[in-house]
Amino acid sequence: MTFIYPNGKKQALTFSFDDNQDFDKRLIEIFDKYGMKCTFNVNSGTLGGTADQNPDGNVYIKPEEVKEVYKNHEVAVHGVEHKYIATLTDPMIVNEFMEDRKALEVLTGKFVQGCAYAFGRYNAHVMDILRSVGIKYARGVASTNDFFPPQDFLDWLPTCHQAASNIMELGESFLNCPGYIDLPLMYVWGHSYEFGRSKDWSGIEKFCELMSGKDYIWYATNIEIYEYINATRSLEFSADGSKAYNPTLIEVFYKTDDGFSSIKPGETKTVK
Ligand SMILES: [Zn+2]
Repeated sequence: MTFIYPNGKKQALTFSFDDNQDFDKRLIEIFDKYGMKCTFNVNSGTLGGTADQNPDGNVYIKPEEVKEVYKNHEVAVHGVEHKYIATLTDPMIVNEFMEDRKALEVLTGKFVQGCAYAFGRYNAHVMDILRSVGIKYARGVASTNDFFPPQDFLDWLPTCHQAASNIMELGESFLNCPGYIDLPLMYVWGHSYEFGRSKDWSGIEKFCELMSGKDYIWYATNIEIYEYINATRSLEFSADGSKAYNPTLIEVFYKTDDGFSSIKPGETKTVK
C-alpha cells in the first residue's frame, strides 16, 4: 500500500517559525494571503517582552495577543526561556517544556504538543524527556534539502531555512517531485525577525506565491502532518497484507490503480 495525503493530495508543505517576535504578524499576513499553514514556536517567558529586552530592539507578541494572532496556525513550544538544553539539569529541561506547554495551552485554549529545539540542539536523552512531557514532535535546524518525511518525529529536520540560497530551486523541484518519494513533504523554517531586520519580505512572499494554489498540495501545520503520518503508521494489516484495519480516529488515504481510496476510522477493508 502506498499512502497519500488527505483527500488524495500528493504532497504536503509546512512552515515553522520561532521566537514570537512582533514581526510574526506581518509574516502571518503573507501566509494567510497565500493559504500557507505554519507552526509558530513560542517562548512563553518572552511574550510581552519590550524593545529593551531584545538584542535588536524588537518587541514580542503580547500574551493576550497569542490566541488571535496565531488563530489560523499552530502554536508549539520552544522552551519557556529559550535555554540551551545542554546547560540544564533534567528537571530544568522538564520545566522548560512542560511549563511552556501549560502557559501556551492557557493562552490558546488548545493542546500544545509540538516543539522546536532552541538553538536546534538535542540528543536521544532530551528526546526521551520530551516524549515523557507529552511532546509529539520536535524540530531541529539542519537542512535535509530533500522531501522525505521524518523517520522519528522527535528528530524532525527541515528541508531548508527561509534564507537558503536554493529555496526557490527547492520549491520548483518540490512542485515536480520525483515519484519514488512516498508522502513527499517540504518543510521551511526560520524567524520572522530576519525579514524584519532586513526589512525585505520579498523572498518569502515570492516563495509563497510560487507554492500557492496547487490542488495537489496539502498546506498543513506541523501537528497536522504528524497526526496524519502517525495514523498511516498505526494501520494494522492481515498477515497476507490483503486487509487493513484503521484503529485511529483519522481517515487514511492510499493510492489505487485508478486514483485513491481511504480507510475510515475503525474500518476494516480489503485493500488488494
Ligand atoms: Zn529560537
